[in-house]
Amino acid sequence: MDMDLPTLWYLTVGTLVVATAMTLWERKAHGQRSRPLGIWAASYVVFAIGCLIAMRREAFPGVTGPALANIIMVLGYLMVLHGVRCLDGRVGIVWSAALLIALTAAWAIGGEAFPVFFWTHVASLPIALICGLTALALLRSRAVRELRSRPVAVAVFVCHGVFYLLRATVAPWLVAFYGEGLLLVLAKVTMYEAVLFTVAMPMAFMALIREEYQAQLLADSRTDFLTGLRNRQGFFEYGARALKDLAAQRPVSLLAFDLDHFKAINDRYGHDAGDAVLKLFATVSRDIAGADGVIGRLGGEEFAILLPGQDSLAASQIGEAVARGFSERAARSDGLKMTATVSIGLAEAQSHAIELAALLSAADLALYKAKALGRNRIQVATTGMVSEAA
Ligand code: GH3
Ligand code: MG
Ligand code: MG
Repeated sequence: MDMDLPTLWYLTVGTLVVATAMTLWERKAHGQRSRPLGIWAASYVVFAIGCLIAMRREAFPGVTGPALANIIMVLGYLMVLHGVRCLDGRVGIVWSAALLIALTAAWAIGGEAFPVFFWTHVASLPIALICGLTALALLRSRAVRELRSRPVAVAVFVCHGVFYLLRATVAPWLVAFYGEGLLLVLAKVTMYEAVLFTVAMPMAFMALIREEYQAQLLADSRTDFLTGLRNRQGFFEYGARALKDLAAQRPVSLLAFDLDHFKAINDRYGHDAGDAVLKLFATVSRDIAGADGVIGRLGGEEFAILLPGQDSLAASQIGEAVARGFSERAARSDGLKMTATVSIGLAEAQSHAIELAALLSAADLALYKAKALGRNRIQVATTGMVSEAA
């Protein structure tokens, strides 16, 4: 390979310094991920120090130079792994400390007797192991599970880990076969790969953090801030998908809710009490609708629950249970103790080709009827309403 080794070392150190600066800058914008980003930035500094020591390892007495460089590098890899585990709130460092102690002991016992063998081969094994664990941690992480860049990050650590595993296992055979002259080639290949790794790793981490942030923003844009339910957009997006995924023979119903005389509640008890009533309604709906029910706050004091797999009879029982639970808890709750009721419109889809908007319109027509009939009741849409809305 027509590249000199010091240039590759300096390139690696330079890349790590740039990666540290960029990661710290990124950290300012992602307060919720300041811990892993901080740990990764610190690990790049540790790698850079390890590289500088490794470059000058001959200047240290005995085997101290290679041993120190290797232990510092392994500390860097452990910090990288720790940063990944931090994404899911896992913070234990006992095993990392044990590995570092074991590695130090190994160098102390055998390093002096077999310095080249230790530097070229034994030193690689913990790196391969930690990279494997990092890839595994990324694969098992809940925080990054849905992210597009996760496979890229996993691939970076799998490739790097396999490279170091080969270095520890195959390289000794190659050296035995081709002679000591191969050591320089191996060193250059190792540093060339190091340059690629120190570019790819920070890029992959940065992509994960930014993508996670974007996903959070997207989720926020579909969530109602007050109640934590899906907002109108979230309800329509998710509900339309749920309607589409439903097997053709299964029924589907929709309940439209509008709290009664809510303006009067605000006027009488204040806006904060009104907010508490809205939150109470959301809690009761969640408790009663079950895991399959898709609940949304469509606006103000209007809510909807899409009930896949429920016909109008089952849906009306659910609607009545929500209304009853809401009224009872509003009357009982500390701080509320008020009369609160809700009117409900119910529509069952007559055909699976029906759009969510049409089903909601039918339920809304029934809801207006419930209001006109005196409120605090459930009204079922007639077939006419459903087809009229569609
Ligand atoms: P009806 O029985 O006919 O439905 O009467 P209503 O008073 O419930 O209906 P109206 O549409 O006249 O009033 C709805 C009120 O809901 C008006 C608005 O101030 C209030 N509102 C909307 N969003 C919020 C909110 O986030 N918090 C609070 N506290 N009030 C809200
Ligand atoms: Mg209303
Ligand atoms: Mg109302």
